[in-house]
Amino acid sequence: MCGIFGITGHPEAANIAYLGLHALQHRGQESAGIVSSDAGKLHPHRGMGLVTDVFDSGAMARLPGRAAIGHVRYSTAGSSDIRHAQPFSVQYAHGAIAVAHNGNLVNADALRTRLETAGSIFQSTSDTESIIHLLAHSREKDTVDRLTSSLRQLEGAFSLLFLTETKLVAVRDPHGFRPLALGRLKDAFVLASETCAFDLIEAEFIRDLDPGEIVVVDSSGMRSYYPFSGDNVPKRFCVFEHVYFARPDSRVDGQSVYRVRERMGRILAKEHPVDADVVVPVPDSGIAAAIGYARESGIPYDMGLIRSHYVGRTFIEPQQSIRHFGVKLKLNAVREVLEGKRVVVLDDSVVRGTTSRKIVKMIRAAGAREVHVRISSPPSTHPCFYGIDTPTRSELIASSHSVDEIARYLTCDTLGYLSEKGLMAAVSAPESREGYCAACFTGQYPVPFGSASGGKLIRLHADRTERLE
Ligand code: AMP
Repeated sequence: MCGIFGITGHPEAANIAYLGLHALQHRGQESAGIVSSDAGKLHPHRGMGLVTDVFDSGAMARLPGRAAIGHVRYSTAGSSDIRHAQPFSVQYAHGAIAVAHNGNLVNADALRTRLETAGSIFQSTSDTESIIHLLAHSREKDTVDRLTSSLRQLEGAFSLLFLTETKLVAVRDPHGFRPLALGRLKDAFVLASETCAFDLIEAEFIRDLDPGEIVVVDSSGMRSYYPFSGDNVPKRFCVFEHVYFARPDSRVDGQSVYRVRERMGRILAKEHPVDADVVVPVPDSGIAAAIGYARESGIPYDMGLIRSHYVGRTFIEPQQSIRHFGVKLKLNAVREVLEGKRVVVLDDSVVRGTTSRKIVKMIRAAGAREVHVRISSPPSTHPCFYGIDTPTRSELIASSHSVDEIARYLTCDTLGYLSEKGLMAAVSAPESREGYCAACFTGQYPVPFGSASGGKLIRLHADRTERLE
């Protein structure tokens, strides 16, 4: 997963982009980068690590100009490597261009094979690089036409920002898998994956980009294009943004993430009630849902687990042994809250089960009498191919185990997941899953990828192959 930010028409564009990326840091901690545009030239700076590690005053001084785009990366396609740090920037026949991408293309391998056959030389294994090669191959004269003809060849999830010497262009794929919001900071236009970035820089939120919309900002102002409007592609916003990924102080897809999570907790309390003494969130991801569960059930809410804020997301670390240790690094139990109590512990999702199992043990070790695990989303049964970093299907505990079996593995007294219907009610889509992609819970993938990638084997990560039945 990644976060993207763009600004044009501001004398301190790179500084504002830095702040914007800071607010989007939760969307990717592996690398960060900014490309600014000044006097007909693009100026890039990229590095591995957190935004605060990558940029110092020297680097910021080398990013002049009134326009900039930025990116924070969390590896989904391509391995962890500085060559994959974005925004990518190149010089081609039509001038300089930089691109920042959030999402995952499902036809990346097919595109790459075709482009390499036509002579392209790739410098990374990132799916985003194909977009630049498509632009370079396009015969269209006009920037927007070139973009449109290239974007038409992409399949999957793409929220994109492009920067040229004269234009800032924002794109949301026709399904609208990933968020992208438009705002205003005095005379400048700003774009960000999430509105929490606007709050930090005191920009005004204007609206979300529509699925399939291309926004172009240049010296003649801002205008929109809808080149996919004839395709009748249904909107499929990622429901997992609401479950876990987005920050709760953001509004994504027109809704407060905090309120949606609170509703998930309320519905979960109705679906899986239990006699208990205290509702405890797994911080930070379970907090809003735990508040909802406590309000609906009348059971007091308390902070029985404390999170250290100096460790990254443990999920990212590659080896099982490190991940086990990582949970302890990140969380500790508060004996005074838990001792002798019947505890409801709330988290947003179970992936491999490693974290929840550790947490249950920790809560029991702190003297809890009973531990009831409640998860504010349905069982995670399928990997995401549209930009959320998930392990292969075989590593997802719910892909091969029933809820009872998972409860035994977690060693909890009871386990309750939010139903799919409950999830859709929480995101205000009561009748059906219309409008959302919930493939990670249902296995119903809105964009097919078997054919696009030449068979039923698809490559998710450079080093990870997944077979779908
Ligand atoms: P696991 O130990 O593999 O079951 O991981 C479960 C934890 O990972 C939960 O606390 C979730 O909040 C968190 N989580 C779920 N999905 C992701 C993701 N795509 N990236 C990072 N963390 C995640």
